[in-house]
Amino acid sequence: MNDIDEKLRPILASVLHRNAGEGEFHQAVHEVLESLGRVVAKHPHFLDLALIERICEPERQIIFRIPWIDDRGQVQINRGFRVQFNSALGPYKGGMRFHPSVNIGIIKFLGFEQTFKNALTGMPIGGGKGGSDFDPKGRSEAEVMRFCQSMMTELHRHLGEFTDVPAGDIGVGGREIGYMFGQFKRLTNRYEAGVITGKALAYGGSQARTEATGYGNTYFVQAMLETRGTGFDGKRVVVSGAGNVAIYTIEKVQSFGGRVVACSDSSGHVIDEDGIDLALLKEIKEGRRQRIAEYARARGPRVHFVAAGRSSIWEVPCEVAMPSATQNEVSGKAARALVQNGVQAVGEGANMPCTPEAIRHFREAGVLFAPGKAANAGGVATSALEMQQNASRDSWTFEQTEARLAAIMRSIHDTCATTADEYGAPGDYVLGANIAGFVRVAEAMRMLGVI
Ligand code: GLU
Repeated sequence: MNDIDEKLRPILASVLHRNAGEGEFHQAVHEVLESLGRVVAKHPHFLDLALIERICEPERQIIFRIPWIDDRGQVQINRGFRVQFNSALGPYKGGMRFHPSVNIGIIKFLGFEQTFKNALTGMPIGGGKGGSDFDPKGRSEAEVMRFCQSMMTELHRHLGEFTDVPAGDIGVGGREIGYMFGQFKRLTNRYEAGVITGKALAYGGSQARTEATGYGNTYFVQAMLETRGTGFDGKRVVVSGAGNVAIYTIEKVQSFGGRVVACSDSSGHVIDEDGIDLALLKEIKEGRRQRIAEYARARGPRVHFVAAGRSSIWEVPCEVAMPSATQNEVSGKAARALVQNGVQAVGEGANMPCTPEAIRHFREAGVLFAPGKAANAGGVATSALEMQQNASRDSWTFEQTEARLAAIMRSIHDTCATTADEYGAPGDYVLGANIAGFVRVAEAMRMLGVI
């Protein structure tokens, strides 16, 4: 607690007490409150009207049963969640995560982060998040469809283009979005395209949405590198993960001249000194839905597969690290290894992939560090562009959409940098992101009264 301003300590104590056992949520709140000391010192009015307490308390939390029948005819039960965190800036907006680790604490941390991330985009979207402990791994196409339909049978009554707009996250891609939208449409008898984002182009999706999170993180890191007179060209890069975020990070880094030498999934990582063969990776992960060891097998003896638990992907030397798998994947030890090997910049593609200890190491070593709520905001920003196209019954070209994404990422970068300067911590993107996101949400909440 010593790193927290004395006036904010009771707020953190109350969050810890009222949300017992929710470690990831505590971690996310702690990090933001740590940054807010400088805000309340300069603008004490943010302590009024219990603004900070209200920001830490979700507006609504929905937990429900999802029964479905598997291919053997057995009844399966999962738990569904939707946390509608904050709607001061617009309808709740944020993805759905399907993963066995999902619980209320994980969804609350994600919804909390999402609120500030969405504020940083400058677009009219509030913060929310949802998901289920359903594990899509090894499930048939038909099982995934029945699960999505059962989930939406409950969830639909809480959604709407002006109320709450889900999208994808870990375990939820175009296939799942399609099944969820189909069931929503059937239950409501409304073609309400703007009720969910990440749709396929065939029925109201946006160009560049699939690519947006990875591309956006790459633009953000490029902007950080430029502040030190350099860029991706010729750099060694490690990108963890092999999902949607990682794949399109690799694509953009390669187009900027970087060499991505390693990537991973939950079974382990591969090291490819010639640079990842993206077409092959896409075919294995997106087409065949296989494990990453297949990549090494297909590439031959020059490529190594290292099974999870043997050694960490962060021991592979690189100049830029872009963790794009999941929360807390970069430990303090991993950060020390990265720093020792000369890492210059870290951009969080996933949500909260670096532990507080890891972030401390990067800060102390003067590494450029982009927190996820700023660096990975390109995904949700492009979701907001999808909503805009749906509202005007229009569709834009890839070039037009990507140009908007690039401008948004540049603006988020500049907002974080100037906010950090303004609060006496130049180059501290964590502080800049937390403060800029908080101030936008808190100002709106103040104007809306005590609700
Ligand atoms: N799940 C993504 C995120 O963490 C995207 C959310 C969205 O597009 O609504 O920001």
